[in-house]
Formats: sequence, C-alpha cells, structure tokens
Amino acid sequence: MSDLRALAALTARRIRELEDGGTHAFVDWEGQGPGARGQGPGDQGSGARTEGLDTGVQGGTLVGEDGRALAGEAVAVKDNICDLRFRTTCCSRILDGWRSPFEATAVRRLRKAGALVAGKTNCDEFGMGSSTEFSCYGPTLNPFDAARVPGGSSGGSAAAVASGAVSMALGSETGGSVRQPAAFCGIVGIKPTYGRVSRYGLVAFGSSLDQIGTFGRDVASAARLLSAISGRDPFDATTLDRDPLPEPGPAPASLAGTVVGIPREYFGEGLHAGVAAAMRRAMDRLRGLGAELRDVSLPHTRYAVPTYYILAPAEASSNLARYDGVRYGRRVSEGAADVRALYRATRGTGFGPEVRRRILLGTYVLSAGFYDAYYGKAQRARERIRGDFETVFAEGVHALFTPTAPTPAFKLGENLSDPVAMYLSDIYVCTANLAGVPALSLPIGRDEGLPLGGQLIGPMEGEAEIVRIAQALERVVGGAEEVR
Ligand code: GLN
Repeated sequence: MSDLRALAALTARRIRELEDGGTHAFVDWEGQGPGARGQGPGDQGSGARTEGLDTGVQGGTLVGEDGRALAGEAVAVKDNICDLRFRTTCCSRILDGWRSPFEATAVRRLRKAGALVAGKTNCDEFGMGSSTEFSCYGPTLNPFDAARVPGGSSGGSAAAVASGAVSMALGSETGGSVRQPAAFCGIVGIKPTYGRVSRYGLVAFGSSLDQIGTFGRDVASAARLLSAISGRDPFDATTLDRDPLPEPGPAPASLAGTVVGIPREYFGEGLHAGVAAAMRRAMDRLRGLGAELRDVSLPHTRYAVPTYYILAPAEASSNLARYDGVRYGRRVSEGAADVRALYRATRGTGFGPEVRRRILLGTYVLSAGFYDAYYGKAQRARERIRGDFETVFAEGVHALFTPTAPTPAFKLGENLSDPVAMYLSDIYVCTANLAGVPALSLPIGRDEGLPLGGQLIGPMEGEAEIVRIAQALERVVGGAEEVR
C-alpha cells in the first residue's frame, strides 16, 4: 500500500504543478488544498486526502494490490462519472454541493484493478460541448498552446493525460467527446461499442448514444484501461452480456490481409490542409505496412451532424428533467411562490447557456406538432447512417480510416458565439455514436506544433481489430512530427 501512497503524493504534486500553470484540467483531486483553482462553486476545498490509501480502501473499493492490471497507474476521471471520494458535479452549478451516494462501476473496476483514482476532470457542462469552455468552473487550456481549447467535452481528461499529470483517464462520449479532445491534445482516445462498458454511475446525457471512453498516451494504455472497465454488469442492463475485452497484444509488424476503407465523404470541404497532409502520410504508412486501402462511400454522412443535434438534445431534455431543485444539488427557492417557480428559479440559474439551449431545442423537437418532422425524421436518418456502416463492413472492410476532426485545436472563444460552427467540429466523430460502432483516435502528426488525429472506426464489437491496426500504425506514423 505504501507504493500507492507514494504514487498519490507524486500525482498530487504533478496535478498541483499543472493547475498552478493554469491548465485547469482538474476540478477535484487528491491533495487539493483550500483556495485551489478549480474548486467547486460552493466547496471550500477538500484538503489533502490520503486517508484510506494505507488500509487500501479508497472510495468504496479496495485499491492498490500489486500485480493487478492497472497497478502503478494514476487515472483521472471525468466529472460526470460518479464517485464516493470526489464530488460529482458534471461541471454544472445545478449539482453544486451534491455528493454521489455511490461509485460508478467503471471507477470501482479501476480501483479493483489497482489504479490510483487521481481526481475529477473539467468538462463541458453535462458533456455538452466540443471545447470544455462550457464548464461552470471556466475552460481548460490546451497543453500544447494555452490560447487554444483542448477539445471537448472531455477536455480536462485529455489535458491531464497529455500534460503527463496522469497516465490514463476516463471520459465520456455522446458524440465524439473522447476522440475529438484526444486529437486536439495529441493522445489516444477510444470510444467502445455501445454497451461495452457499464454506464452505472455515468450521468445520463443522450442515453441511446452515451458510453464511457478511455484516454492514454499510446494505443496500448488506452486499450488496457478499456479492458479493465469493460464487460457485463448486473447494475446496468444496457451493458452487453460479454466478458471484459482482452488486454492488447504486441503491435503487429505487418497489416497484410487487412482492408482499410477510406470513406470519401470524410475528406470534403472544410478539411484543414495540415490534417489532409497528415492523412495522406498516414495512408502511405498503412500501405507500407501491407494493408489494402479501399475507396468506400458512406452516403448518408452529410446528415450526421443535423441528426445528432436533434437526437442528442431530445434525449438530454428528458434526462435533465430530474434536476428540479427538489431531488439533487442546488435549490433556489427564495421568493418562489409555488413549486413551478422553484423549478424555474433553480433551472434558470443552475444550468449554463449551452445546456439551456439543448433543453429548449430538445423540448421543441419532441413537442406534439413537430415530433414527426424532427425527431421521427432524425430517427430514420440515424437508421440510414447505421446502415452505411453495416454495408461497408459486410463488404469485407475491416476498419475505416478518417480524420478525427476537420481542423487542429481552435482558439478559445473562436466558436463560442456560433453554436453551429462548434457543432461542426463533431462532423467526423458523431457518426460512430449514431451507429453504435467502436472508434479510436490516434496522433498522426503535428501542424505548426498542434497535434492532429486520425480515426479508425470498426464494426460492432470490433475494438480488438481497430486497436491492432492502430498499434501497427502508431509505430510508423510519426505522431509527434511536423507534417508540412
Ligand atoms: N460535442 C458533442 C455535443 O456537444 C458531443 C458531446 C459528447 O460526446 N459528450 O453534444
């Protein structure tokens, strides 16, 4: 156990340095003192917390047994995943003061696998955003350029790993929130198949889309983390009835016999020249490894962003109805004459601007007169998008290779006043959530110092295949080299 204590002390020091430098990746962590940055709106700081580390009980589960799959790893957890030791606020004022009465299955499994859970990371409020600017605690800065966003919504987790404060992190994905920040921060992010990881303790955003995903500095570590948290869970009936994923094997030296599809719709207008150059180079490397590259088409791709931005807000408006000032967290009752006024005052001041926009949008598309025109049509479009993937994978393609994001990390504030511009940064990532298929982002080069990501998308339950291809590519792609 003293090893765990030493790791806790070292990690606390690293996080402190990161936070003193202004990155603001964490909102609650081991060893956070009073007056620390990132402290919750109503929380006076939690003081140094190493209690439990000696006895091996951290949160509700045993930790730190040597020889376990994640022994020696410090793992950060996005603030929308419930924990007993750290607060859970989804970076929203509406959960100010709330403490989770239980531990998420994924977090419990981390501790059982011997990891140190290092703290909670900053994110867009309830996971809604693509830049981590919509957090009630203020934005996280990109570790590569403090004037830029780390991506979102799991930007704090991505920055925590990219900066070296922790070796791995958990994020969540509704429409790309692990892969897009992984690309912007030069690390690896995996979104598993829908149902691969238990969502017990993941605060719901869009229930037909949500999955916990993993970050690591290389493919193997993100895959190891995924293997530790995956598999059936009696607490979440939507989890696939499968054993945990196996740990990744060694990187294969050749990809002979592997067919990689290049979907032409992912290389259209708006693709940054640096991203395009990095993709060309990565495709050359795939060919060099012996893979067959095949031109394919996913014709309904252009409907993905509008479809996602109807379905996700619709589900969010329903899921967020529970934050009413009565059951959880913050309550604003002053001057409220009746219960409706209490709801209005609590929700009107507790939710930030993007969450309010989603609730309005979602309530509108679900309203009686518009349900068929918007929600119904979006459901049908989703079926077509899913069908596109099914078709290409049925034709013998093992995985698809695409850019993760159309541009490198954008500047803080650049997309804040234009929600549609913000939503378009999800153009290549939200398709996999709509289809339920697994996908990962890995670094494929840099443009003027900014990291660029490439995405591998697999068929349902094809995590092992995309991990294998990514491991081979990672060795030869030059993820940290300038491309132009
Ligand atoms: N950027 C997308 C959104 O704002 C995706 C968010 C997510 O994956 N949690 O909804």
